[in-house]
Amino acid sequence: MRIGFIGLGIMGYSMASNLLKAGYELTVYNRTIEKAEKLGKSGAKVAYSPKEVAENSEVVISMVTDAPDVEDVLFSEKGVVKSGKKGLIFIDMSTNSPEFAKKTAKKLSEYGIEFLDAPVTGGDKGAREGTLTIMVGGKENIFRQVEPIFQAMGKNIIYVGEIGSGQALKLCNQVVVSLDMVAVIESLMLARSLGIDDDKLFSVLSTGAGNSFTVQYYLPKIIKGDLEPGFKAAHLKKDLKYALDTGTSASLPLPGTSLALQLYNSMVSLGMGEKGTQGLIKVYEKLIKT
Ligand code: NAP
Repeated sequence: MRIGFIGLGIMGYSMASNLLKAGYELTVYNRTIEKAEKLGKSGAKVAYSPKEVAENSEVVISMVTDAPDVEDVLFSEKGVVKSGKKGLIFIDMSTNSPEFAKKTAKKLSEYGIEFLDAPVTGGDKGAREGTLTIMVGGKENIFRQVEPIFQAMGKNIIYVGEIGSGQALKLCNQVVVSLDMVAVIESLMLARSLGIDDDKLFSVLSTGAGNSFTVQYYLPKIIKGDLEPGFKAAHLKKDLKYALDTGTSASLPLPGTSLALQLYNSMVSLGMGEKGTQGLIKVYEKLIKT
């Protein structure tokens, strides 16, 4: 199966690299073309537009930022639909809303293109190591055709159900991811104010009931002052807005998610949207200084 991959950022570059390692014939495109050319040195064919990716592929994957970016990749002047053949399978692995997935599937069906929503969790580490958890929505027979592709990028592949249900489950995941970061940072701020050593806090949290991916992976970075992105704050803000909008449509109160969104709004408005989500500590430090 010839695969196309669009969006070679923090996640996409590693995911595409794992497809190459698994032996797939891969065509890649990235808006900043140097990233695609870098992967070209490892054996990927470099394309200069999403249209060119689709010309060379039976399956096209997008790992871009947000819904307008997926629309760009699909429907712009040099978009996938301009050359995508009937029967092409397009998989959006970026995090978007369930509503967007449903709308996109409908639009693509007019071109005879199949669509799956398949967001991921596991962070930049999971993408590099090929251990992502992948949640898939769409027709089950289409999912079964491309399941081996997911297995080359992830470890736990879950077929969730109808179109949009992968994104729906991903939003539930983001509620935990965001509030866990809030909890870890508050705990660190409290520990520091009480004169407790950072390493002792890590030792307790990472071995007891407070343990989590955030504790294991992000707390050591926070302690070291490493705010470089594994997962950009602006992306988490996007996800939380989608989670709240989805909850609001069902008249479901999500007060914790709402708090997390306000905190990440603050981080982005401080000009730190491109920093990692662990940079939320800077918002707390500012709160304490005032
Ligand atoms: P990233 O590093 O910011 O990469 C985004 C990629 O999308 C870049 O290659 C960018 O191109 C490309 N792009 C954005 N807008 C585009 C457009 N309009 N047309 C063409 N290309 C476009 O982000 P990431 O961390 O890889 O995340 C990608 C997606 O996965 C997001 O939806 C995010 O929420 C989700 N996600 C991230 C993580 C994580 O831990 N990082 C985990 C799970 C899910 P340029 O190189 O030109 O900027």
